[in-house]
Formats: sequence, structure tokens, C-alpha cells
Amino acid sequence: MGTREGALGRAAAFFDEGRFKALLADLVAIPSTAQEAGFEAELDRYLQGAIRPWLERMGFVVAVHPNPLPGFGPILTASRIEDPARPTVLLYGHGDTVRGLDEQWRAGLAPWRLVEEGDRWYGRGTADNKGQHALNLAALEAVLAERGGRLGCNVKIVLEMAEERGSKGLREFVAAHARDLAADVLIASDGPRVAPGVPTIATGTRGTYHFDLAVRLREGGVHSGHWGGLTIDPAVRLAHALAAIMDPHGRILVRDWLPANGVPAAVRGVLSGCPVGGGEGAATIDAGWGEPGLSPAEKIYGWNSFIVLAMVSGRPENPVNAVAPDARAHCQIRYTVDTDPAGFVPALRRHLDAQGFGDVAVENAFLRMAASRTAPDHPWVRWAQDSMQRSLGKHVQIIPNSSGGLPGDVFVDHLGVPLVWVPHSYNGCKQHGPDEHLLIEPAREGLLAFAGMWWDLGEQGTPPHQ
Ligand SMILES: [Zn+2]
Repeated sequence: MGTREGALGRAAAFFDEGRFKALLADLVAIPSTAQEAGFEAELDRYLQGAIRPWLERMGFVVAVHPNPLPGFGPILTASRIEDPARPTVLLYGHGDTVRGLDEQWRAGLAPWRLVEEGDRWYGRGTADNKGQHALNLAALEAVLAERGGRLGCNVKIVLEMAEERGSKGLREFVAAHARDLAADVLIASDGPRVAPGVPTIATGTRGTYHFDLAVRLREGGVHSGHWGGLTIDPAVRLAHALAAIMDPHGRILVRDWLPANGVPAAVRGVLSGCPVGGGEGAATIDAGWGEPGLSPAEKIYGWNSFIVLAMVSGRPENPVNAVAPDARAHCQIRYTVDTDPAGFVPALRRHLDAQGFGDVAVENAFLRMAASRTAPDHPWVRWAQDSMQRSLGKHVQIIPNSSGGLPGDVFVDHLGVPLVWVPHSYNGCKQHGPDEHLLIEPAREGLLAFAGMWWDLGEQGTPPHQ
């Protein structure tokens, strides 16, 4: 009953007749920001009012759980079990968004209203992450219809509402529900493709590590005429310390922060020929910036980055004639699984001390999200790549981890699942800022790719149970 082509045809019709756009517009209209007080009820409404009825119509058993940590958004779980002998896929997504930033969107646009313009759908959450998980569920619905209400595999879903606050509570929740959430593979969508026209599978994410650098010299500022040239200027000390960490061309000088054996051969292999781009002028790829000898793809998918997120000394907006009392920078390292983050602070301390910066303190260090990576040649990764290439008729790029952060480590640690992230967005989508949008054509491809995968999950040829 039914065919693969039939399933893809149903998905394509759903998209081309405007039904997916209408569905996404309804989701975007729920102002489910997790970053502003007063919108807590919208987090519940997204799950209870929009997602739950949709999933129940598709035969899922749905539950909405309070977040294990007080003050954070709820977590929806759903399962649809047909036959335990068949593969079980875990689908993940998040229905919360960053703040709306209403007044910053350009004329004609607003965060909680979907607007089509050219090749784009604008609206908060179109890319991050409502549009992405909605595509995957709409694809599932098309396959269910084509198979007459049967799927041929089992599906479990985790949809959280606190991702934009660092996925707080997700780890505790998954650990406590590990048995219920057990699956063969996580297949889910978030983040950007390597380039808008290149379907992508990311098998993990880089981790994020944060710390402050601080030079604190005195209680308050002292007169710059009487003291300048006599007493140490903390801003200058901090600037030199940063210069000791990274050279003028973006090369990290704390070599113990970096993968000891360089980019692993398997990573180098999948990244060979991998394009990087599609930022739409948001920033340029500066050839002379970063680790010499690495390709742009190796720099962001196979290597670690150091970024100064913010720095301050005195009050630049209201300067006074004083040598400032202190200077501070908040810094971030994005790192791959090839480095142990426990070594970051000790390595930095050794490096600063050796360079004569004993007065520069390293404070408030914390791991925000751990790095994760499934082997790029894992059977489930290869299976997904084959399936997507059949559906789309073009090459699917595999990357060993996305450049940004996702909570994949939680699912690896507590469920042991391989990670198959299939992003539907692109680098220029402006998620987290005003004018967030989803590109229509990659969205359509994403829907077809998932329809093909859901179909193939119900056929022979899936990787064996581990
Ligand atoms: Zn986000």
C-alpha cells in the first residue's frame, strides 16, 4: 500500500498548496519567548494548544511535564510505538524562541507574524526552531497518510521550551526518563546548512566554554593627570593579555587549547570540498584570519575558536579623567570533542603566568554546552545520507559537528544514541536577531528529505539494533 514517490508527492503538495506555510504561521503567532518574563503561559500554549493536538491526531501518546528545574519551560514527550522489533527514532526540537525584539524588525515585519517576501518566510522561530521541527512532523504526517495510518517504525519525541536559556533541565529530564526515551538514533533538525543550497547532516556539535578575564588594581579610578604614567592601566594590561592569547591574525597562541593531533583524518576527509557560505553579508570569511593551513570548513567544524564576547574598562559612553580601577573581558571557546574542556583554565593560567600576566585573573569559568560527535561514517549517518540523496537527487554534505551549539551531548550521555542532525536553515537566517527568516526552497527540500527518511524507516535496510 502506497509508494515512496507517493509519500514525497503528498509532502510536496502539502508545501506547494500553502498548507505548510499556514501551519507555520499559526506556530509563529504564539509568542513563546523563553527570554522575557510574562510569556510563561505562551510556552504552555505552544505545547498544549498547537503541538499536542497535532501529535494526538497522528496517533502519538503525549505528555507535558513541568521542567525539573523551577522557573524554566515545560517539556513535551510523545511516543508512537508500532512494533518494538522495528527501529525507534527520537525526534528533538524546541518550541521556545529568543526574545521578540519587536521594535528592531524592519518596516513591514514583526516577530510574531509570518510574512512571505521573495524566497523567505520572516518571523520569530521560522528558523529557530519552529519551522524545523514542524517540517519534520509534516513529513511524518504525509508518510502516515500514504501508508494508510501506519508508519513502519516507532517514533519518540522530546520538545523542550527552555533551549534558548541553555536547555536548562533537559539533562535532568532525559536522565530521569532514559528508559522511556530509549531509541536507536536521534534524527532532528536545528541550526544552519553549510550553505543554503547544500543539504547537510551534522553528526554532533561544538561545545561552548565561557570565562572572564579580569585585571583589578584598585578600589576606584584615580586622576589621570596625577597618576597616568605612574600607575598601571588595567585596560592596557588586559589588551596585552588578550594579545598573548590570540595573535593579530586570529591564531590561538594557547596551543594546549587545541586538538593535540590536529584535525583528525576522518574529519578532514568528510570536510574535504565542504563549502562554507550563505551568510548574506552578515560577515565576511576572512582568508587570513584563524589557524593557518586550515580550510574555512576545518576552521569552524574541525577546530576550536576563541572569541571575546564583550570587554570593558571605565565607562566608554561617559568617560572621566581617570586611570580605571579595573578591566574585564567575557570570553568564549567553541571546541570539538578532540579537546577536553577541563584543561582550558589550567592551560590558560600556565600560559598567562609564563608570559608575565600573573595579575590577570581567570574567573567564572563554566561549561555551557559539551561538545558531541557521532562518527561521520556511522551506519545511521550513512543510511540518512543515502536516503536524503535519493529524495533530493543531490549530494548531501556530512559535517562532524555543527559550528554552533545544540544539546546533543545530553542524548549521547544518557541514551547512547548516534546523532543525525539535519538542519533546514542557513547562516544568514538572523536567528537571535531581528528579521529572522527561513528560506523557502531549503525548507521544501527539508520536508521532502524527511518524507523520504520516514518512508525508508518503514522499509527494510535500516541499520541493525545496537
Ligand atoms: Zn536559538
